[in-house]
Amino acid sequence: MATSSVTTRPTTKQYLGNTNTLEVHNLNVETDQCQVDEILNAGHSVIFIPDTLGQAHSDGYDNCAYCIGNSTR
Ligand SMILES: [Zn+2]
Repeated sequence: MATSSVTTRPTTKQYLGNTNTLEVHNLNVETDQCQVDEILNAGHSVIFIPDTLGQAHSDGYDNCAYCIGNSTR
């Protein structure tokens, strides 16, 4: 798995995964419904290596309906 846990908001990454829901968010266009801060506070946040949507999908993450859309599930 090419993921790395983070406990603070990554400032140089575009994508953030939630290990609890297996959803990936695009931090460039995140919405209030994404609840990214709650994900970070819960310790459920990971970044992807490399920082791409394709990598997130390879790691089993599905698109967030609010910031990315086009759920693959
Ligand atoms: Zn989102």
